[in-house]
Amino acid sequence: MTHFTAKRLPKQPGPAGWNCLLPAPPPTRVLGEDITADIAIIGAGFAGLSAARRLVQIDPNSKVVVLEAGRVAEGPAGRNSGFMIDLPHDLSSDTYAGNAEENDRVQTSLNRAAIAFGADAASEYEIPKDAFDPCGKINASATPMGDQHNRDYGAHLKKLGESYRLLDSTEMAELTGTDYYTSGLFTPGTVMLQPAAYIRGLAAGLSDTVNLFENSPVTEISSEGPAWKLQSPKGSVSAGKVILANNGHAESFGFFSRRLMHIFTYASMTEQLPEGVLGGALKWGVTPADPMGTTVRRINGIGGNRIVVRTRFTYNPSMTVSNSAVARAGRLHDQKFAERFPILKDVPMAYRWAGHLCVSWNGVPAHGELENGIYAAVCQNGLGTAKGTLAGMSAAEMASDVQSELTQAMSAMDAPRRLPPEPIAWIGANATLRWKEIRSGRE
Ligand SMILES: Cc1cc2nc3c(=O)[nH]c(=O)nc-3n(C[C@H](O)[C@H](O)[C@H](O)COP(=O)(O)OP(=O)(O)OC[C@H]3O[C@@H](n4cnc5c(N)ncnc54)[C@H](O)[C@@H]3O)c2cc1C
Repeated sequence: MTHFTAKRLPKQPGPAGWNCLLPAPPPTRVLGEDITADIAIIGAGFAGLSAARRLVQIDPNSKVVVLEAGRVAEGPAGRNSGFMIDLPHDLSSDTYAGNAEENDRVQTSLNRAAIAFGADAASEYEIPKDAFDPCGKINASATPMGDQHNRDYGAHLKKLGESYRLLDSTEMAELTGTDYYTSGLFTPGTVMLQPAAYIRGLAAGLSDTVNLFENSPVTEISSEGPAWKLQSPKGSVSAGKVILANNGHAESFGFFSRRLMHIFTYASMTEQLPEGVLGGALKWGVTPADPMGTTVRRINGIGGNRIVVRTRFTYNPSMTVSNSAVARAGRLHDQKFAERFPILKDVPMAYRWAGHLCVSWNGVPAHGELENGIYAAVCQNGLGTAKGTLAGMSAAEMASDVQSELTQAMSAMDAPRRLPPEPIAWIGANATLRWKEIRSGRE
């Protein structure tokens, strides 16, 4: 008999600000008995819910169960910055040569397949436009180096035949209401999510066809004849197939041991902005020209008129961070906010939080069939909203024996590379992250 026991369960540091803006969720359904299913999915984030949707698309009669450790949209899927991006982050990297251009095309087309899948779901489940808004995004710069990065990025986009528009400092000020930014690069393919509303919308849309249980962590996976039994504190699911859609927590069961890097990033969201003080457009989102810089959004819709700031990354193999780490990042957010919006100096932050993401050293997902009937859809690296969606779609297809361009592309990727031992990895990763944060400066 094969057993995998969860050494850790997820802990979410701070409130999921986006979820706090929504009405109270429907009552929790906790798994309270022993049930059976064709396929059981662990985790109700982008990967888990996308896998569930793809499974019932492939076979509407399939009995699909999703077990989520916490509440839907309280995990990373509901606590990110909501940029569902089509283009790879690193188009203008120094390694841009040889087949890198072809690789960028493949990555972009895969990300767009995820976005199209999300768009179909948003339309079918009547998810509001404010939660899934295909309005594009801007890569904003605040330094000459960032301006150069935007021009280089634009030149690479041109080579790829992608559309974009460069904005000067005046246009950036007109958009953002601050003269902080010196240039911008608009690309039209990003969808801006209200992540908690999108994730809740997916869960609600699936509720007729998929059996979803919240506050029902899987604590053990064990073989039971040809099936797998997922044990939760108050019940169990026996299923022929299992999809691991619990991102970095796949390692909590012993899968991909020492191959997943557990990274936390941090965000703060303001109280409602006073009316008429900040000029510019009422809604926008900017990613930083330096990927280690600060992401800023102005939202105006579900939950009102607010600014959301995200910056700082830390490597935490313990898969959790302390309240004081959230508070320290919060002080940095306050500084970034004050530098950009001196006119809003009296506006306090309403919510501060951190969230767990998972990357591999060589930037590849952790994917494929791990044991007979156990499939992984984890380790989304950057762009996790799009990559998580893709991973879920692909694992569902593999578990259903469907071959597609997506499953071929995912199967062709390398496996995650092994990390150095601790504390070398901890020291090296955190020193590198801190140095890169300092180097990103005003970005
Ligand atoms: C502050 C912040 C900003 C970010 N901004 C962006 C952004 O703008 N764009 C972008 O693309 N990405 C962004 N990300 C990353 C993105 O949120 C993640 O990559 C994405 O959520 C991964 O999706 P997932 O479904 O694979 O995993 P998750 O969203 O982490 O979902 C996994 C789920 O599994 C559950 N789980 C874990 N263990 C168990 C268990 N034993 N039993 C049952 N359930 C379990 C967890 O509770 C969780 O809900 C950001 C992340 C953070 C924290």
